[in-house]
Amino acid sequence: MRASYTIKRLTDTTRGLRAERQGRAAEGWSRERLEAHQRQKLQDLVRHAVARSPFYREHLRGVDLSRPVELGELPPVSKATLMSRFEDWVTDPRLSLALVEQHLETLECDDYLLGGYRAMATGGSTGTRGLFIFSRGEWSALLGLMFRLLKGMGVVPRLPRMRLAAIGAPSALHMTYRLSESVDIGLYRRRQLAATLPVLRLVAALNDHQPDYVNVYPSVGALLAEEQLEGRLRISPSVVSTSSEVCTEEMRERMRLAWSLEPYDFYGATDGLWGTSCAEHRGIHFAEDHTLVEVVDSSGRPVEPGQSGAKLLITNLFMRTQPIIRYEITDIVRIEPEPCPCGRPFRLVAAVEGRSDDILQLAGDGGQPVTLHPLVLRSPLARLGGARQYQVIQRQDGLTIRLVPRESADAGTVAEEARQAVRRALAQAGAGSTPVRVELAGSLERDDTAGGKLKLVRSELAR
Ligand SMILES: [Zn+2]
Repeated sequence: MRASYTIKRLTDTTRGLRAERQGRAAEGWSRERLEAHQRQKLQDLVRHAVARSPFYREHLRGVDLSRPVELGELPPVSKATLMSRFEDWVTDPRLSLALVEQHLETLECDDYLLGGYRAMATGGSTGTRGLFIFSRGEWSALLGLMFRLLKGMGVVPRLPRMRLAAIGAPSALHMTYRLSESVDIGLYRRRQLAATLPVLRLVAALNDHQPDYVNVYPSVGALLAEEQLEGRLRISPSVVSTSSEVCTEEMRERMRLAWSLEPYDFYGATDGLWGTSCAEHRGIHFAEDHTLVEVVDSSGRPVEPGQSGAKLLITNLFMRTQPIIRYEITDIVRIEPEPCPCGRPFRLVAAVEGRSDDILQLAGDGGQPVTLHPLVLRSPLARLGGARQYQVIQRQDGLTIRLVPRESADAGTVAEEARQAVRRALAQAGAGSTPVRVELAGSLERDDTAGGKLKLVRSELAR
């Protein structure tokens, strides 16, 4: 039983390495070649979805399949809709919701569902929980993409084997954990650590492992950089990448100072949208040979390059068990109008600025509601030299700043500076009457259900 499990996993990863070799040419394609590939794959995807998914047969019934399909004519779909129709959405009728839920409850390591699927869950903390299922072929395609993106950052299987540290989700429910399990077949010397561990435990484990490459949530990366600068952490990675949360300029600066390198941005979502920054470090290239990305405003209209959208519509070209066609995600993204000097055909995402779910609604000074982007609060707080970490929480009685002061700073002074900085930002935004209080903390709690991620700005009010 275990032997066959090991052989299967080994096969999946070997196929992933092969997929990397076959797929790497896409990085050198022209934009025209890429768009031709996208059009072809879109036709295959839509026809597969209509043939095999009862949900899509109904959802796309107005679409004329006797001719090539245009992306813009396909109706968008939300996670809530897909999850509410889960059993009609999936293309294998054996995958009932009850079966998947039951499997996830007892899941360990990299276990298969029905002998050939990997199931995982996303985002329990806000909105709808998503369940995503990958066949072995889909998983190998994803691994191929991951190997390609890692290679772009200089992380390749070689001898002597590179030492990797993956600091992320604490359980097998999450994709980062499973990917890391999948490559644990001797390609690298790997240490997997939960982002929810106390920082000093992470420091001890990293000092012991001495990684060449670290992938970490940026909020944890910034704390570790601090530990390095203060002399408790002693590692010298050649590559660091951050994923899963917004990486602020201040976090990036701490990591630059600590390790004398430019951290890469790694974007990988369970719905199959993946990308990384390139060596130019001007933004993220989504792997557009695998996923189509449309930046749209809150009404779903396309947004011009250079402008921030309210959400993305993504269409995944390789996921077949759960077809994803113009699927809404709430990331606020801005596409650079100019191509990247690296020459990849993939557009450059200037910044993933957060999620539109994180935008706060406040009572304005003139009685009008004020919409506040998290950046408005992040910027002034990030500038506070005495703050090690912060989080802003909107509650019924106003905004609470949870603040972890630096050891070297006077806690009372930093708390007052934080309160004043946020008050000034609110006044400028027209919401100066919002009450602001500061709570000092020794550390900030991470959300286990969201894979141990930390949101810098969040609301506890019902939407
Ligand atoms: Zn580039």
